[in-house]
Amino acid sequence: MPFRAPVPEYKFMFDHVVDLGQVTQTERFAEADQDVVDAILTEAGRMCEEVMYPVQRNGDLEGAVLENGKVRTSPGFADAYRQIAEGGWISTSADPEYGGMGLPHSVTTVVNEMMSASCLSLQLNPLMTQGQIEALEHHASDEIKATYLPKLISGEWAGTMNLTEPQAGSDVGALRSKAEPNGDGSYAISGQKIYISWGDNDITENVCHLVLARLPDGVPGTKGISLFIVPKLIPDENGNPGVANSLKVVSLEHKMGLHGSPTAVMQYDGATGWLIGEPHDGMRAMFTMMNNARLGVGGQGVGVAEGAYQHALAYAQERKQGRTPVEGGSGTIIDHADVRRMLATMKADVFAARAIELACAVAIDMTTATKDPEWKARAAFLTPIAKAFGTDTGIAVSEMGVQVHGGMGFIEETGAAQYSRDVRVTAIYEGTNGIQAMDLVGRKLMDGGEAAYRLLDEIEANAEAARGTFPELAEPVWEATETLRETTEWLVAQGDMNDRFAGCVPFLKGFARVLGAHYHLRAAMGEGGAGARTKLARFYITRLLPEHAGLLAHAMRGAEDLYAITVDDLAV
Ligand SMILES: Cc1cc2nc3c(=O)[nH]c(=O)nc-3n(C[C@H](O)[C@H](O)[C@H](O)COP(=O)(O)OP(=O)(O)OC[C@H]3O[C@@H](n4cnc5c(N)ncnc54)[C@H](O)[C@@H]3O)c2cc1C
Repeated sequence: MPFRAPVPEYKFMFDHVVDLGQVTQTERFAEADQDVVDAILTEAGRMCEEVMYPVQRNGDLEGAVLENGKVRTSPGFADAYRQIAEGGWISTSADPEYGGMGLPHSVTTVVNEMMSASCLSLQLNPLMTQGQIEALEHHASDEIKATYLPKLISGEWAGTMNLTEPQAGSDVGALRSKAEPNGDGSYAISGQKIYISWGDNDITENVCHLVLARLPDGVPGTKGISLFIVPKLIPDENGNPGVANSLKVVSLEHKMGLHGSPTAVMQYDGATGWLIGEPHDGMRAMFTMMNNARLGVGGQGVGVAEGAYQHALAYAQERKQGRTPVEGGSGTIIDHADVRRMLATMKADVFAARAIELACAVAIDMTTATKDPEWKARAAFLTPIAKAFGTDTGIAVSEMGVQVHGGMGFIEETGAAQYSRDVRVTAIYEGTNGIQAMDLVGRKLMDGGEAAYRLLDEIEANAEAARGTFPELAEPVWEATETLRETTEWLVAQGDMNDRFAGCVPFLKGFARVLGAHYHLRAAMGEGGAGARTKLARFYITRLLPEHAGLLAHAMRGAEDLYAITVDDLAV
């Protein structure tokens, strides 16, 4: 079945749900008027449908392999990548001074989401490069920028991020890779990095690695880490790829999905690298890349959910089974109440997760355009929610997509299982969803909950405004927001961080449930009638929103009862 890029949906959401207008009215993004945004979305959507989606199965069936120390990518990936690069889709938000389009991050977020929906394992390559571009734009010297940015932005070179080591996963501060000054401004980087996405490829003429390592005087922990750019081929004096650097791909991982993305173990043996940002300040520079990537990974979840939903919807309209319970029904399984429930749940949750993702992107753009600390706090607060809820939704929706297919969902030929396998890792990489939730109740509540309360105030004001038209929808949203406010207050009051962490995942999910209801209500208001969006909002608010109560009660349990269950008890 074909993939259809949901371009009209994005346009509606920009206009009526997340208000892209406030971004495009700023001086910084004035050139991104409606015509420009519409043209970009339409053209990117066409590329995803016609170029990327056709290679998605290849990536699963004939994944990347390592042959004689070189990575060979899946059939068709090289050509599809070239078309992505030529279309400018790697660098829609990059600095025009170096060849980027300078468009709002909201637009890039949508382009990335469509690319994820059409071929996740190939999309991961540009996503990594985008993060590297942003890190260099903010933290690199002018010389490094001039050498690397034009090539990364054009897609001639690709970028990777190298944090993880065998003993340093979630705890990045435990890394052991070393950087020794060479005395000429460069550094010798040594160490092993694992799980490096797109660690090498046979498509781009160079691969540039952003590597975290410790200088000789770097203290233990995250404060002693520095960031380096380490190219596979060292640029010559003209900026062209020159001699090979002292680094190699040791092996590629065998994974449950995402086979088209080469996930590499990388070995650096005194490889030449250049410092990005200040010594020992690598985590700050890396965070630029990671925040961008966290929202991008949330968008991967939403994109895969969209693809899985389209697949399931098409199957449900073809598969005949049982007697239809509705008069005038088609006789296919879409007539059955439980199948209808699954499809409505998938569609409603894709909308909710997408709205959170786009609201986060709009907050990032408003921060860029206005430098307003309140927008900055909003973006920071929404990022872990967008990452974790987007990817949890990708997993839940694609899993439900398998269920809609019945036995055929378990049979690989339908492609339903691929979505489920491919998207599973998105809840793990870029900081596990548990780590995201800890960030939400930890760092993101360090302001005493101010950013959270401002968001809750807006949700309540919107619900108040909706009371006249949709009283039966506005009231539950308002009430849920009050419960969420009380839970947030409880968390802020806990001095022992472990009491917050014990409930952080249900808190994040509960917060996302309430946000989802808010955006559904806005969609109903934007539609202004009893159409499909209003019906979907009613479904979400009456059937899915109530989950928030159980989740938020869970969030306030504290840690004591968890530790009352001892390790021995768990072993019984
Ligand atoms: C396919 C794939 C691609 C990847 N791509 C990249 C890449 O390009 N670059 C890169 O650098 N890395 C990459 N990674 C690595 C990825 O980011 C890590 O796997 C991830 O951060 C988790 O680290 P870990 O695997 O060591 O798990 P661990 O850190 O061992 O975590 C195991 C479990 O313990 C939990 N946990 C750990 N610490 C805590 C804590 N303090 N509090 C509460 N719970 C905790 C985690 O949430 C998790 O559930 C990739 C991984 C995969 C599988």
